[in-house]
Amino acid sequence: MDTQNPHVAILPSPGMGHITPLLEFGKRLVTLYGFHVSFFVLTTDASAAQTHLLRSANLPQGLNIIHLPPTDVSGLFPPDAAIETRMSIIVRESVPALRSALAELARPTVLVVDVFGTDTFPIADELHIPKYVFFTSTAMLLALLMYLPTLDVEVTGEYVHLQEPLQIPGCKPIQIENMVDPLQDRKNDRYGWVLHQACRYTMAQGILVNTCEDLEPITIKALKEDPILRKIPTPSIHPVGPIIQSNTPLVSGKECLTWLDRQPAESVIYVSFGSGGTLSAEQITELAWGLELSQQPFLWVVRPPSGNEKSATYFTSGGQCGHPSEYLPDGFLTRTQGIGLVVPSWGPQREILRHKATGGFLTHCGWNSTLESIVYGVPMIAWPLFAEQKLNASTLTEELKVAVRPMVLPEKEGVRREEIERVVRLVMDSEDGKALRGRVKEVSDSVLRGLDEGGSSYNSLSNVVNEWKINLQKPIGNVE
Ligand code: UDP
Repeated sequence: MDTQNPHVAILPSPGMGHITPLLEFGKRLVTLYGFHVSFFVLTTDASAAQTHLLRSANLPQGLNIIHLPPTDVSGLFPPDAAIETRMSIIVRESVPALRSALAELARPTVLVVDVFGTDTFPIADELHIPKYVFFTSTAMLLALLMYLPTLDVEVTGEYVHLQEPLQIPGCKPIQIENMVDPLQDRKNDRYGWVLHQACRYTMAQGILVNTCEDLEPITIKALKEDPILRKIPTPSIHPVGPIIQSNTPLVSGKECLTWLDRQPAESVIYVSFGSGGTLSAEQITELAWGLELSQQPFLWVVRPPSGNEKSATYFTSGGQCGHPSEYLPDGFLTRTQGIGLVVPSWGPQREILRHKATGGFLTHCGWNSTLESIVYGVPMIAWPLFAEQKLNASTLTEELKVAVRPMVLPEKEGVRREEIERVVRLVMDSEDGKALRGRVKEVSDSVLRGLDEGGSSYNSLSNVVNEWKINLQKPIGNVE
């Protein structure tokens, strides 16, 4: 290994929404800056989609994937534990395995973890190396979490019972109806875990955020300059995004692209709820009818109904699921043959979004999906389901104006077929839809400029990289 260049140890928590951006980030460190990257993968609760991604990813020389042995987490949380609880416990239980794996390598220059990874910080301290968080969501969520320990002391009762929007210093107020899921119920374990992670972010030397100045100028300014947030203390903030999945050989889903090749430009509405999103049987029926009534070509990644669970496939994404005819309305597949394509479980999203036939995206507003849609200039219908997706949906519709939201909020009550028909037609076949498309293309151009040499995200990443290079030259124990 080249000892002149930094060696970065990266540990994502499980889930495609974490693995994908951190892996891309690692690739960038290797290809743009000549770093060496050890990319640690937690195999506990790894999904089929994750396994496929890691097997098929085009990895540059210098990026090594190291699979940590699975840890036994049975009995540490109930089967219905929230994602935040599961992830935090899986990472905590993997600390000994990570420590042993690191002991066998050349000492890294820096440890980078994601949102749920702060329990690994003592390992960085033992190695006398700096620790960074790569925050896979928005600056807005980061600001909320940086301020959470203060809110936890100042607010009595539930946040969702507050009469006024929640005010984070220097940021736009958060409407209570857009409150992130883990903060909905302070008695639930997931709240405790998110608070635990949030309290520890202050220990990091820096936080890289997968966003950019053009997407969240006000919040980024607040994180960097607001006196109250700075006093927390908030570590140095580096908006380096959008970092989205790059070209990976297709393992499956070629039929989607062949089908798209036959559709007119910008005519297809793509429908997908990320790696974990699932709908109730009633909502699947309404969505199917809404798409059919809209008469717009559609490509729908479907999953079996899940009752009230909105993230049922988060840890099993890309796995086998029954034939869609078992849960779609009778005759739907026959009636929509020719106009729609239904793909069970998983589709090649990046390829779909960048295809010229794709003209709209009905999305759960996961941050990676959102960034991908923006980068490829595709306007969205915001259909948030869980985690921080409602907050993302409000940024997309109210601030960036690159998405529309159904009148009835999907997360509150079922969206009826007529409303789905209306929003699909609005985005795909109306003057308002054209304006939305023009707007998202403008945003796309500006965020891509930020990644070019001299752009804001490019400079942000270069600054961190330079800090790491400087650290490499310092004697052990002299970490800043
Ligand atoms: N994804 C995909 N095919 C699918 C569903 C999801 O490739 O059928 C990818 C998507 O492109 C994104 C990631 O999985 O990169 C999902 O991350 P996101 O943050 O949007 O949502 P999450 O799955 O974390 O809720």
